Amino acid sequence: MNPVETAKGLAVVTGASSGIGYELAKCAAQDGYDLVIAANEAQIMQAASRLKEFGTKVEAIQVDLATVDGVNKLKAGIEALGRPVDLLLANAGRGLGDGFLDQDLQEIRYVVETNITGTLHLVHAVGNQMRARGQGRILFTGSIAGFMPGAFQAVYNGTKAFINSFSFALREELKGTGVSVTCLMPGATDTEFFNRAQMEDTPVGQAKKDDPAFVAKVGYEAMMDGEGDVVAGWKNKMMTAAANVTPAGTLAKQHRKLSEPESSKH
Ligand code: NAP
Repeated sequence: MNPVETAKGLAVVTGASSGIGYELAKCAAQDGYDLVIAANEAQIMQAASRLKEFGTKVEAIQVDLATVDGVNKLKAGIEALGRPVDLLLANAGRGLGDGFLDQDLQEIRYVVETNITGTLHLVHAVGNQMRARGQGRILFTGSIAGFMPGAFQAVYNGTKAFINSFSFALREELKGTGVSVTCLMPGATDTEFFNRAQMEDTPVGQAKKDDPAFVAKVGYEAMMDGEGDVVAGWKNKMMTAAANVTPAGTLAKQHRKLSEPESSKH
């Protein structure tokens, strides 16, 4: 299929090589947006080939978004196109299982730098351009994990609490500017996430999970409708409602049951 010359605009999707990010990119392409997609590994090139089948232009940029250089490279790649960003889907993120003191400090920093620092850097740059233009939509992939102190995934849950909170704050700040901010909060979703976080040996790692295509569709639609937040799926909605009225210590205890590695229980 030839690229559509009358694309609606440009969508930038981070973490689009697999899982929720790939499905978000698919939603944008099917909706007629040209894409800039980014991820850290070469698989992003294969994702680009598959996404081109939907008929819009796709530019893949392989960058480590945990680094200043990586985010600058993505910004330069977007600027080189000479087009404004209409949609920014800040989705790249990673988890890390096990008890905090048993985690590797480098890996801990990598989670924080990917999920928080790199995300802020990109959103600061693109958000400023959107505000100057008086137009744009930003979607964060937060998580329902951000509502729970995550025993045996403590750092990750902390990063998602940051993203959930930050998204609401930025949304309020940008009211009346023409830029909308939405936070997608998935529950456990069937992606590479648990394998990459070394969490397959946990109850949540082994549990049935949501379909990433469903989760992405819910998030994409919420962003296009300009909603503030959306929790994907009714079970997750119930968990979130319960989390809001449950003491933090109880939530941490419940989280241990989900995330403690089977091997460390003995
Ligand atoms: P996934 O399949 O592992 O996808 C993660 C994506 O982020 C990949 O494209 C990965 O690319 C990219 N990424 C990670 N670190 C990066 C870095 N430093 N620089 C550039 N790209 C990077 O997992 P997923 O579940 O779809 O995760 C997407 C988002 O959903 C994350 O923010 C995650 O926290 C959130 N989330 C997931 C779940 C779940 O249960 N799966 C639930 C709630 C929220 P590379 O492989 O190239 O690094």
